[in-house]
Amino acid sequence: MLEAYNISSTVSHYAVFGNPVAHSKSPAIHQLFAEQFDLELQYQAIPVETGQFVHALTEFFSLGGKGLNITVPFKQEAYEACEILTQRARACQSVNTIWLDEQAHVNGDTTDGQGLVNDLTTNNISLQGAAVLIMGAGGTVRSILQPLLHEKPDNLTIVNRTVSKAQSLAIQFSNEGLVSACSYDDLKVKRFDLVINATSSSLQGELPPLPATILNHAAACYDLMYGDEDTVFMQWARDNGAAMVLDGLGMLVEQAAVGFSIWHGKQPDTAKVLHKLRSS
Ligand code: NDP
Repeated sequence: MLEAYNISSTVSHYAVFGNPVAHSKSPAIHQLFAEQFDLELQYQAIPVETGQFVHALTEFFSLGGKGLNITVPFKQEAYEACEILTQRARACQSVNTIWLDEQAHVNGDTTDGQGLVNDLTTNNISLQGAAVLIMGAGGTVRSILQPLLHEKPDNLTIVNRTVSKAQSLAIQFSNEGLVSACSYDDLKVKRFDLVINATSSSLQGELPPLPATILNHAAACYDLMYGDEDTVFMQWARDNGAAMVLDGLGMLVEQAAVGFSIWHGKQPDTAKVLHKLRSS
């Protein structure tokens, strides 16, 4: 099935697998990184049918593909398909970056959490000693919890519509730091320095039921979603006095940069690429 994608024998070939994936910015980001080092590469967004992930992965590498990114809904299947996993991929049970080592073993890593931490750092948002709220308890929250906790926040709360999912994540990562779970109702008596929206509610233009009182003075708000306009959560943050409001485009570029450095051993300039994406 991948023959149609014209994997060249002379140029290194990379791709992102997902479904849907046509909207992905990863091909543009990796081409912009490659230009910084005069690297010639092909990078395509390849839609994979449900049930075909392992077949597509095997075919991609047998045809000479060098590296894969994985997006929704295949990150967990990718985790299960890899022969060698980094420590953080094992902890998150999620893989978004794949490559073959010299023995042709399929290696997997997850770079989402590091990408988020790098973007927060770039924007001078310190996690150390902060009270952090994460909304949502899906696959992405599982990927970002450990790297966030390694930055030593004072406490980290997970709030989710289905509270039991937040509770099970809090238990799973309790060895990494002070992490707890609650319902949206429980937020009425809590205050935070950083609120991260890791729900998919912004996709539907919906806002989780957040009390207006949860932001500390100088709090920052971060929506993992990105788009041409502010999400409803970003708008809520501005209306309720957040000192800084960010979308997830920076995280997307930063997680791609971590993957790029795994594949090519080079650290790209992410600010230049982010600027280009925002102005195009
Ligand atoms: P999942 O489908 O795994 O999880 C979705 C979560 O959102 C669940 O916790 C769900 O709650 C919650 N949710 C959905 N709708 C609502 C709503 N209306 N009100 C309250 N909660 C809601 O998604 P992912 O974890 O994979 O992705 C989450 C977000 O992160 C997406 O928007 C995705 O685009 C973004 N993302 C951004 C990246 C970046 O680089 N910027 C990288 C990866 C993801 P419940 O459990 O109750 O159903």
